[in-house]
Amino acid sequence: MDGSTLTPRPIARQVRGVPVSDGAGVKLNRLIGTPQLDQVDPFLMLDEFRSDEAADYIAGFPEHPHRGFETVTYMLAGRMRHADNKGHEGRLDAGSVQWMTAGRGIVHSEMPEQEDGLMWGFQLWVNLPAKDKLTAPRYQEIAPAAIPTAQLPGGVTAKVIAGIVAGVTGPINGIATAPVMLDIALPADGAVTLPLAASHAVFLYPFMGDITVGPSATRLSHGNLAVLGAGDSVRIAAAGGAARVLLVAGRPLNEPVARYGPFVMNTPQEIRQAAMDFQAGRF
Ligand code: FE
Repeated sequence: MDGSTLTPRPIARQVRGVPVSDGAGVKLNRLIGTPQLDQVDPFLMLDEFRSDEAADYIAGFPEHPHRGFETVTYMLAGRMRHADNKGHEGRLDAGSVQWMTAGRGIVHSEMPEQEDGLMWGFQLWVNLPAKDKLTAPRYQEIAPAAIPTAQLPGGVTAKVIAGIVAGVTGPINGIATAPVMLDIALPADGAVTLPLAASHAVFLYPFMGDITVGPSATRLSHGNLAVLGAGDSVRIAAAGGAARVLLVAGRPLNEPVARYGPFVMNTPQEIRQAAMDFQAGRF
């Protein structure tokens, strides 16, 4: 297919993150899941954690439950240890991804495994369709070397965590919302147009450098998150130097969302049931 027939998506909305404290007192930059941007269906939350001050992250996220959705942790720098109530334990090193389908329920902790230095990464919450909310928990843990890199024109590269780019398939599989998750690196003056299913919701977050987006090259500065509008591709270009961009896309669920803390279901009754099941030790 001729690339010129693609319709690049414009920016529909830009938001800045909100500083929040979560877990036992971890400082976070919340980009999705705020009063300004409640969700980008099927994505319920996006947090960026980035600090070289141990006091900002050392308390970590002691034991807490999840039900009804998936948590995705992508580490850029630092080390995190996780352990759950089913005896599953592991370490997330820089460059690794954990895609955890909480399903009917897990209780876990996520704690820094370092006492100083930079801790930097993302946690994304991905909703599950109603039919899968009580599915069995599942982990996909991907080491840095198992995340392939797609080489694109103009020196642009994309680490493919989920989805397919230029024939390169990411390791994450079997996710209901058919997600695409890319860490794209653009050299100065780099630009790329990526085909992307028109059915998917898409957001972009430049976490290093600034970019321009879409048919009219709208500027998106470092630290701002853009939700994209209709189209069948994403066009981005570096603006004023090299840039790195998190691109996340998924098929919207269009189902009612009832959320309370670590439980995301479809109805308030299901939230009450989740709280009762957790308190009764049924996770
Ligand atoms: Fe958690």
